[in-house]
Amino acid sequence: MHLATHVLAGWCLGNLLRLGKKERTWCIAASVLPDVDGLGLLAGVRAYQTYHHVLAHNLTLGLVATVGFARLARCSLKGAATFFALFHLHLVMDLFGSGPGWGIAYLWPWSDQMVYSAHAWSFLSWQNGVAFLGFAGWTVAIARACRRTPLECFAPRFDRQVVNLLARKADRPKGLTIGPIEADAEPRSSDKPATRNGGSKREAATAGGGGEFFK
Ligand SMILES: [Zn+2]
Repeated sequence: MHLATHVLAGWCLGNLLRLGKKERTWCIAASVLPDVDGLGLLAGVRAYQTYHHVLAHNLTLGLVATVGFARLARCSLKGAATFFALFHLHLVMDLFGSGPGWGIAYLWPWSDQMVYSAHAWSFLSWQNGVAFLGFAGWTVAIARACRRTPLECFAPRFDRQVVNLLARKADRPKGLTIGPIEADAEPRSSDKPATRNGGSKREAATAGGGGEFFK
């Protein structure tokens, strides 16, 4: 499945379990770690096809990574269990979303046996698109509710800007709203000529562009 979907999956589930910022960062790392074996592409297409879903998509690396991440994050047992679960969520997502014929060498290096899903869909499929949009929507919901995004782990200042932008959009009124006329409202400076000439405050507001009526 797409790397961006793995990133968002790690982030969303890290928030679901109410972990700390450091643990949430390691949740993302655990969620994307298996794809490190895709770097074999740097050595050529043949190396990529031979070692992707083999070197890092297996139980052994999952256990080693969980212990290592838990020590680095100095996290609770819940955090460590989350890292292990996210690592495996990546494997499950890949089994279905990497395309037919892409298996996983789950027991490597102890066995070369590959695990396949008979129900795998194409890498560029609507199912992968829906998965990405689902996690993206969940990420926006978290940003509005908890005022943080995955950027907090890598670019805190940018994270603040994105959160504030989303908050401003959420606070903005939708469409035109009509409210009652405030009888004791003071006319704005641009309305003063109308009131000086004997016009009512309502006329003054209207002369000012009707802004008092459409808040
Ligand atoms: Zn993968």
